Amino acid sequence: MEIFEEIEPLRAFLKGKREALKSIGLVPTMGALHDGHLALIRASKAENEVTVSSIYINPTQFNNQADLDKYPRTREADIKLLEAEGCDVLFAPQNAEMYSENQSLTFDFGTLDKVLEGKFRPGHFSGVALVVSKLFNIVQPDMAYFGQKDYQQFQVINRLKEELKFSIQLRSVPIIREKSGLALSSRNQRLSEQDKGNALFLYETLIEAKAQLLNGASFSKVRSEAEARVKKYEGVKLEYFELANKNTLQELGDTRNFKNGILLIAAFVNEVRLIDNMLLEVE
Ligand code: AMP
Repeated sequence: MEIFEEIEPLRAFLKGKREALKSIGLVPTMGALHDGHLALIRASKAENEVTVSSIYINPTQFNNQADLDKYPRTREADIKLLEAEGCDVLFAPQNAEMYSENQSLTFDFGTLDKVLEGKFRPGHFSGVALVVSKLFNIVQPDMAYFGQKDYQQFQVINRLKEELKFSIQLRSVPIIREKSGLALSSRNQRLSEQDKGNALFLYETLIEAKAQLLNGASFSKVRSEAEARVKKYEGVKLEYFELANKNTLQELGDTRNFKNGILLIAAFVNEVRLIDNMLLEVE
């Protein structure tokens, strides 16, 4: 695997690939890689001749300094995993390579980034859009791969692509879970075994809610039950649990039009903030 920390040598390398008519797939990550990330690498390899993964803990998307400071950093293990997967290129820049000292650009996605993650993490999607724009611009991939785990992020990046006219196909890859159902996340590394058991609240709530909704229950009833149930999970604090339109991410409330419905949840397990989601997909 070729490893680049600087933009210009990476651009020169990829220019050669483009001239040889090789298709390029991009998989942006923040490292601490797990099977969820590797599923994206596999998806890119299946469709492209060159797969570029990036590992960059982007400071502008963190609205909480402690979360940024404690974000797991496992560079050597990540490189081994990427090599074992046959990833062709790793781009792992330092902050000075990605941002100038007086960086001040921001993005505003209207109603899309004012709800859910955007509401609880102000500025988060502006930072995501900024770094993804930079990566798209640097790598100029044919395709880019993102996880359904960060569902709202995918919608924001799709809007970014439409507005900035990036000629890149976006792919969303299904959520990879542990056997227990817990969605894989780099932040899971910060959970004790006991925390992991309690973190199942998120997945169990989604499963239970989906079943109940399809059985005729109203979302307000389903949400009240989740709010009551969370007390049984030690150290878990529910931040939001919503039923939304899967395209606009605006709340669906108690409507029973589930065709475009998605359940989204965020909760703290002690200090660690986790998210998960589930499409209702009623035919
Ligand atoms: P991150 O390193 O957390 O920024 O994630 C990098 C990419 O991996 C994002 O597109 C995530 O949505 C995706 N990802 C993270 N966890 C999972 C998972 N459990 N299943 C599928 N994709 C994931």
